[in-house]
Amino acid sequence: MIKLTTENTTKAIERCKQLKPKVSFLADRTFSVKSANNSNSYTIRFDVQNGEKFGQCECKASERGLVCYHIIGAATVNIYRQGLKRQTA
Ligand SMILES: [Zn+2]
Repeated sequence: MIKLTTENTTKAIERCKQLKPKVSFLADRTFSVKSANNSNSYTIRFDVQNGEKFGQCECKASERGLVCYHIIGAATVNIYRQGLKRQTA
């Protein structure tokens, strides 16, 4: 999994804002994101270890250790869901 930091997510956040990928919720911390360029869908998984956030996508960029806009798209939805959980707890 790739550790998500402010530095390595900045570019992907910009890409994500431009492309606005469609995100579907699959399971807790697991999301499906549709590619903006083709008909592929990628599964994104998140984990939190010692307060640090990690993410993994199935696309080529993520395989090379880069944070892709799919991860950011899913992260946006994940943060929203975690916030909802806190409100209802
Ligand atoms: Zn990706």
